[in-house]
Amino acid sequence: MTALEERKLGDRIIRELYRDPDYIDDPIVGEYVDGLWRALLDGARARGELPPELDERYAWRVLLGRDRSINAFALPGGYFGLHLGLVGVVGSRAELASVLAHELSHITQRHIPRLLEQEKRQTPLMLAAMVAGMIAASRNPQAGAALAVGGQAAVIQQQLNFSRDMEREADRIGYGVLVQAGFDGQGFVGMFEKLQNATRINDNGDWPYLRSHPLTTQRIADMQQRAPAVARGAAPELEALLVAARARVLGRPGVDVLRAWAGEPDQPGFAARPLAARAGALYAAALARAQLRELPRAQALASQLAQAVAGDAAAARQARLLQAELALAADQPARALELLPPERPSGRGQAGRATLLLRAQAQTASGQAAQAADALQVWVSDQPQDAGAWQALAQAHAAQGQTLRALRAEGEVPMAQLDYAGAVDRWRAAQDAARRAAGAADLIEASIVDTRLRQAQALLQQQRQEEQKARR
Ligand SMILES: [Zn+2]
Repeated sequence: MTALEERKLGDRIIRELYRDPDYIDDPIVGEYVDGLWRALLDGARARGELPPELDERYAWRVLLGRDRSINAFALPGGYFGLHLGLVGVVGSRAELASVLAHELSHITQRHIPRLLEQEKRQTPLMLAAMVAGMIAASRNPQAGAALAVGGQAAVIQQQLNFSRDMEREADRIGYGVLVQAGFDGQGFVGMFEKLQNATRINDNGDWPYLRSHPLTTQRIADMQQRAPAVARGAAPELEALLVAARARVLGRPGVDVLRAWAGEPDQPGFAARPLAARAGALYAAALARAQLRELPRAQALASQLAQAVAGDAAAARQARLLQAELALAADQPARALELLPPERPSGRGQAGRATLLLRAQAQTASGQAAQAADALQVWVSDQPQDAGAWQALAQAHAAQGQTLRALRAEGEVPMAQLDYAGAVDRWRAAQDAARRAAGAADLIEASIVDTRLRQAQALLQQQRQEEQKARR
């Protein structure tokens, strides 16, 4: 199986995952995870673990799933799934990075094609059957919630059951990549401890990661040799704790749990707890109150958090982003803008994306849609695959009454998620709008729409031909 074939298989799978109701584009968790991810990719390149052919052909993209179960998985073509549940249980960058480094190594070691070949699944027919099976499962209304990303992931993992040797190899290579990327190798040890504790407690279905990654004595022994556990006296990572708290709240824990978290800072003795314990609890309480539609109390808690973590730059930024998000929810866009000084986009991955998107929303809501559009335009010219930024740009154009531009940007949203039919649909509407406007139409924009429409139609036709071929 060539890298290109594997990428195409991955594209077909991911097209369905993007439509899954559990797929979530959260700019704050996403930016944080992407920061770890970029560092690991650089580490893999520096160690020669990322051959240029794979580097170029694969997507190297992590998709977040709004699922409380603890899971992470690699998919064909360099796509990865990460559940918010896993983000919610880790307290350090290195621990989360260790899981990503392990999954990354499954792909750089080409474990998926090796598996498909071993199991004689390499025929296009078998691959198509595998993908079709997953898609059929995702469309079965009876399966309900189980069909979320977690359900699909489970189906994929049944098909892609890595051998114990592959798991050990992913640990070994992943450890090297983690350390090369500048993370503490103890991240692996900490994550293994969490997995071990969960094994002891019993696997109640919340830890699908343990089923796909059984923690064998051999894996533990290998890791102890590589990174002997040391007594950790390191300072807690406030930012990691805040992002974990956010992931837990976004994971839809249910109203009762939200209420319990919302009331946590009112418990006696709360103020005397260590900062690390208070910070996560304040973040969870503020966001839980917002979800319970108690915005004034949510905002008061977020201010309390901002004061508590003021001495830590990364955590203070997270607190500010939360305050801005809550100000927007409370319909105070001017307040949100005060909280969000513009950040210079670094041109690397998603760094600065959370600020950009929150600022754009605040600008669009306060009569500065033109400024929002300018900033977003710069961003998408650099990151044309960013569906969320295209969506925000469409809103900024619409707020200025620029229908054609708004429709053009709207078409890029499904396009970035490989939904070519959706893109064709939006860009046909854009063509109609250009025709109706006749002489007043923006000619440059209209010609961009024509070009993009033709590209989407060609991709749609290609996709349909491939599907037909696979069915035969
Ligand atoms: Zn693995």
